[in-house]
Amino acid sequence: MKKSVIIMGGGMAGLCAGAILAKRGHPVTLFEKQDKTGGYVTGFHRDEFYFDATGSFLAACLKGSEFYAIFSELGIEDKLDFLPIPRIRNIYPTYELNLDYRNPAAYVDALKEKFPEYEGKLAAYAELTRKLGQEFLQFEKAPLWKKCLLPFFYPTLFKCAQHSHAAILRHFFGANDEIQHGLSALPTTLPPTKLSYIFVAVLWAKVLKDGVFYPRGGMIRLTDMLAQSLVDHGGVIHRDSGVETITTRKGAVENIITSDGRTHRADWYIGALNPYRGQSMLTGGAKLYGKMFDLDRYTVSPSAMLFYLGIKKSTLPPDWPYFVSLHTGLNPEQETEAIEQGHSDEGMHLVITTPSLLDPTLAPDGFHSMKILVHAPRSSLCKDQASAESIRVLQEKVFKAISEKTDLTLADNVVLNLSATPAALQQRTGNEEGSMYGFDAAMGQVGPRRPPNQTRIKNLLWVGHYTRPAHGIVGSSLSGSFAANIITEREDDA
Ligand SMILES: Cc1cc2nc3c(=O)[nH]c(=O)nc-3n(C[C@H](O)[C@H](O)[C@H](O)COP(=O)(O)OP(=O)(O)OC[C@H]3O[C@@H](n4cnc5c(N)ncnc54)[C@H](O)[C@@H]3O)c2cc1C
Repeated sequence: MKKSVIIMGGGMAGLCAGAILAKRGHPVTLFEKQDKTGGYVTGFHRDEFYFDATGSFLAACLKGSEFYAIFSELGIEDKLDFLPIPRIRNIYPTYELNLDYRNPAAYVDALKEKFPEYEGKLAAYAELTRKLGQEFLQFEKAPLWKKCLLPFFYPTLFKCAQHSHAAILRHFFGANDEIQHGLSALPTTLPPTKLSYIFVAVLWAKVLKDGVFYPRGGMIRLTDMLAQSLVDHGGVIHRDSGVETITTRKGAVENIITSDGRTHRADWYIGALNPYRGQSMLTGGAKLYGKMFDLDRYTVSPSAMLFYLGIKKSTLPPDWPYFVSLHTGLNPEQETEAIEQGHSDEGMHLVITTPSLLDPTLAPDGFHSMKILVHAPRSSLCKDQASAESIRVLQEKVFKAISEKTDLTLADNVVLNLSATPAALQQRTGNEEGSMYGFDAAMGQVGPRRPPNQTRIKNLLWVGHYTRPAHGIVGSSLSGSFAANIITEREDDA
C-alpha cells in the first residue's frame, strides 16, 4: 500500500499535487475551505455570461513544456484545449505596442521597429537574457560539483544572478524610460528596481518561450479537470472543510483538525495555502521554516481590483484583441511605491481581457464578457476600498482612462457590472492581504531564496505561489508536482 497523503487547500498547487499522487496510486484526501475548489483559478456564471475570477493567461502549454506535462501524466491533456493568445496590445503613456506574441522576443522585435537607433542594444539585451535563462536551466540539472564551480561553468549566471532588472535595463538603455516600459511588461507587480533579472531570464527561457494561452471553456476548466482526475483515481475531496489545526509531535505532523472538529491522519501532509496561516495552525511552537526561510523576511505582492462586465458586442472596436494592457503612469517605480502606500495616484496598470473573443460560448449571442484587472494595494492598506462609493469612483476612473487611450467607451454600454476587491480575494482564498502572487519575484525571493517545498517538519511539504519554484498558475502547479515527486522519491528510497 502506498503512503497516504492529506492535502490542505484546493487551488492549482494542491490540486496538482493531489491529482498526481492519486494517479500514482496514493490514497489522497484533500480539504478545501470553500464550497468549491480552484482557489484563484476559478470562474463563475452570471446571466449566461462566464467570468474568470482572477487570471487571464497561461504559459508552458505546448507539448514538451512542464505545465503540459502535468496534464499529460494525468492522461487528460486531450480534454484541454489551450487556445493561443494571438495578439497583445500594450498601451504605455507615450506609445503602444501591438505584438504578435509567440515568445518574449516579440517585445524586443516590436521595440526595434519603434526605436531603430537602439536595434543593436536591444539585440544585446535579448542575447544576454537568453543566455542567462539557458545557463540557469543547465545549472538546475547540474551535479553538485559543477554547481560549486559556478563562475567557470555558468559565467553569465555568476555575473548577473544578483542584478535587478533595472540594473540591466540601465546598462543597455541608460535613462530611456520608453524602452524600460516596453521591456517591463511581465506577469509580476514589481517595477524594474525590485524585479530579479534572473526571474526575467527564466521566464523567457522556460515559461513564456512559446507564447501565452487561454483554456477553452475558461480558467475553471483547469481546476475542474484536476479535481475530477483526483477523484477518478480514488482520491477524496472534502469541500467546505477548512483545516484549523496542524498537530505536531517530535518534529512530525501527527494529525490535522478540520472546521467540523474532526481529526484526520495520514503518512504525508501537504500545505497548499497561505504559509502564514499554516504557521499559525501548527501546535507546540513548531515552525514551518528555520531562520534561512523565516516567513517574516518576505513581502507579499500587491493585490488587484476586478471588474467583471457584460458588454454589447457592438461596443467593442473591430480590431480589439483578447489581451490589452494599459499603463497610465509615466513612472512604474513611483506607481508601485504609491500602491505599496495604499493609493494609485501615480497611475494605474489595467489588464483588460475579453475571453468571449477566443471562445464565443462564454457570453450570450450579441454580447462579450470582459474582465478589467486593476493592480491595487494589499487589503489592509486601503480599508475603504470595499465601499460601494469607492468602487464606483475607481470604475469611473478606469473607464475614463480606457476611453482616453482607445476607441472603447464602456460607460453606458455595460449590461452586467460586478466587482471584487482585494478584501474579497483575501476572504475567498485566504491569501495574505489578497496578494495576487503570494511572494512576488523580488530580489531575495526567487530561486533558492524562495521557501522550499520541504518544511522543517519531516512529513509536511508546502506548495503554492509562496514556495518554489515561483508564483503564477504555472509556478504553483509545478510546486504541486515537485511535492508529489518528493513523496515518490522517498517512497522509492524506503
Ligand atoms: C487577480 C489575479 C490575476 C492573476 N492572473 C494570473 C494570470 O493571468 N496568470 C498566472 O499565471 N497567474 C495569475 N495569477 C496568480 C495565480 O492565480 C496564483 O499564483 C495561483 O493560482 C496560486 O495558486 P495556489 O494554489 O498557490 O493558491 P490559491 O489559488 O490561493 O489556493 C489556495 C487554496 O487553499 C484554500 N484554503 C485556504 N485556507 C484553507 C484552510 N484553512 N483549509 C483548507 N483550504 C484552505 C483556499 O480556499 C484556496 O482554494 C493571478 C492572481 C490574481 C489574484
